[in-house]
Amino acid sequence: MSNRSEQLFTEAQRHLVGGVNSAVRAFRSVGGTPVFMRRGEGAWIEDVDGKQYVDYVLSYGPLAIGHAHPEVVRAICDTAASGTSFGAPTELETELAVLVRELMPGIERIRMVNSGTEACMSAVRLARGYTGRDRVLKFRGNYHGHVDALLVEAGSGVLTLGIPGSPGVPASVTETTLTAPFNDIDGVRQLFAEYGDSIAAVLVEPVAGNMNCIPALPAFLEGLREICDDSGALLVFDEVMSGFRAALGGAQAWYGVRPDLTCLGKVIGGGLPVGALGGRAEVMDMLAPTGPVYQAGTLSGNPLAMASGLATLRNLARPDVHANAEAWTGRLLTGLRERADRAGIPLRTHQAGTMFGLFFTDSDRVIGFEDVANCDAERFVRFFHGMLEAGVYLAPSAFEAGFVSTAHDEAALSHTLDAAERVFADL
Ligand SMILES: *Cc1c(COP(=O)(O)O)cnc(C)c1O
Repeated sequence: MSNRSEQLFTEAQRHLVGGVNSAVRAFRSVGGTPVFMRRGEGAWIEDVDGKQYVDYVLSYGPLAIGHAHPEVVRAICDTAASGTSFGAPTELETELAVLVRELMPGIERIRMVNSGTEACMSAVRLARGYTGRDRVLKFRGNYHGHVDALLVEAGSGVLTLGIPGSPGVPASVTETTLTAPFNDIDGVRQLFAEYGDSIAAVLVEPVAGNMNCIPALPAFLEGLREICDDSGALLVFDEVMSGFRAALGGAQAWYGVRPDLTCLGKVIGGGLPVGALGGRAEVMDMLAPTGPVYQAGTLSGNPLAMASGLATLRNLARPDVHANAEAWTGRLLTGLRERADRAGIPLRTHQAGTMFGLFFTDSDRVIGFEDVANCDAERFVRFFHGMLEAGVYLAPSAFEAGFVSTAHDEAALSHTLDAAERVFADL
């Protein structure tokens, strides 16, 4: 373990809450000291002691074309040289909107915001304003940012830290939130039978990425579309993580199911803070200034963030670029399964484009939160620390998805598989 990281963490804890600025970074569920990073290039990151790692966290998803891609760096620098923020419209915002619309045809109108949380928060308000209804339905283990109304049976850090919701969220705020098990369409039908007239929206991660990685069953998403059409509720895909990853056009392209609203984040900013809410024009135009549902942001559509997102998506949208990264992800998972098999370790893997999940289980059915909770948590912790030691950086929680970038190459693959071979042997 890095000495310098330990020193920096000790100091950080005196000034920052828990030494970190986002809960899941704190290594609470795996133990040990978070590794402090100082630089990244392509698929690799370097810690403060100079140790190199192949990175499968990629800032929890945003870096779809790897660290410090020259095109992204240049776009940010050139833009910064002309001013970092105006509080007035810029051409870059429209350019990014046009590109997103080309990739996700279900999006007719977009509002840029600053984070995925903000996109989800605005989606709930807009759906309520549009439908005149108050209830929202979400799924167990799905995470939609730290939005009060959605912090119920949520994934990501909430699972990692074992917080069932959060103090500070009034019961009056969550009493309009309904929850159902993920991938259980009958559970949804039952809730609609009872509450259908008052449900404004169904929010779903079409590829759940905050309870490890669980792609929805196609029939589940098709069922949600049908139920929403019948009842007048809006179907909201939270593609903050799956957008530009499950497929270039997101999970909505992968499944061929069109939501009314889409929440975006992570890749859309290419490593700078961006979120976006998009969808049917008739619904989106309910937002201020065209409509009465209020939403605003001082730094929304920030030029640096737009430039970073544009450079990232333009690169990713070139022929074969995303497809090659998907194929690489497939080879990674095949390689890991082969090595786990040889070591006699039951390992199940999931892939959705350039997102992946690793499950230490011999179950052949991992479709919901309980299935993930039943995996071998202790084995994951040993795997995590073994891989970290061997120079492979995975998220410090069995409830997070893994990510691949277009910069992951043969060298990164053989480094990872060699490391896994040694670590599996010790498990
Ligand atoms: C990361 C994430 C969010 C929250 O985005 P932030 O930018 O962290 O606020 C929301 N929904 C999903 C599916 C996410 O993965």
